[in-house]
Amino acid sequence: MKILVTGASRGIGRAIAEALARPGRELHLHARSVDALEETEALCRAAGAATVLHSADLSLTEDAVRLATEVADFDMLVNNAGVSGTERLPWEITPEEFAQTLMTNVLAPFILSSAAARAMLDRGGRIVDLSSGAAVTDRADSADYWVSKTALMRLGGSFHEAGHGRGLMVFEVAPGVVQTDMTLGMRMHDGRSQWTDPSEVSSIIAAIADGELDGLAGTHIRAGVDSLDELRVRAARRAGPGERRLRLTPWQD
Ligand code: NAP
Repeated sequence: MKILVTGASRGIGRAIAEALARPGRELHLHARSVDALEETEALCRAAGAATVLHSADLSLTEDAVRLATEVADFDMLVNNAGVSGTERLPWEITPEEFAQTLMTNVLAPFILSSAAARAMLDRGGRIVDLSSGAAVTDRADSADYWVSKTALMRLGGSFHEAGHGRGLMVFEVAPGVVQTDMTLGMRMHDGRSQWTDPSEVSSIIAAIADGELDGLAGTHIRAGVDSLDELRVRAARRAGPGERRLRLTPWQD
């Protein structure tokens, strides 16, 4: 089984890579620099997985395209690499900042998911996007990030609609609030004392790799809220087309 995890150098990506590592699996680990992947690689090898390292700056289209061709025939893709937002009001964000966040958080996953889908159609395969509560809420600051996570979820919905009948399983997994370089650098988490344990998200993604949650393909899963036991029960009865999707909310009257 060949799996690409983007942004595997630290934070949630490292926890996911370690949880997916086992004998018989080839883990393709990505970051901007392969030097940053040393610790994750050691963890994956200790768990018995083979590893291949890739460097690519996903804010650059050409790097994302090259990474997609380097990995080629994957069985699973985890779109984890991402950047946080500007934490400024919409009109204070420059077009360049907005575009940079969208490139890394949406366009790069689009390029990688497209390559993965072409490899997986009629053969089977799984794509996991690291989503966020930002995909389904409104917020005054960081429009670049909020828009990016909503777009990523809608993109996952398109891949699901287009590919599910041909064996493609797409999952949007929000990790809760995990203490990482990203969240430690965000004003909105200043003073926070409650964090989601990274194992809550990595164990869900490990269960997805094992095919345990295929009945939930196309949905938004929330680590820290959805327990793995509950998700297994829900997967067995399969999610309906209106469950955990990005939809217009009704009027309240
Ligand atoms: P993190 O600790 O900041 O790690 C980010 C990862 O993405 C690193 O491996 C980094 O690699 C990579 N990355 C960043 N910019 C890149 C670029 N331009 N090109 C290639 N790789 C790049 O973040 P995290 O908290 O683990 O977040 C992981 C994912 O979960 C993100 O998509 C984030 O939006 C999502 N998420 C996180 C939380 C949370 O609570 N932490 C909540 C909701 C959603 P380098 O080593 O090259 O920098």
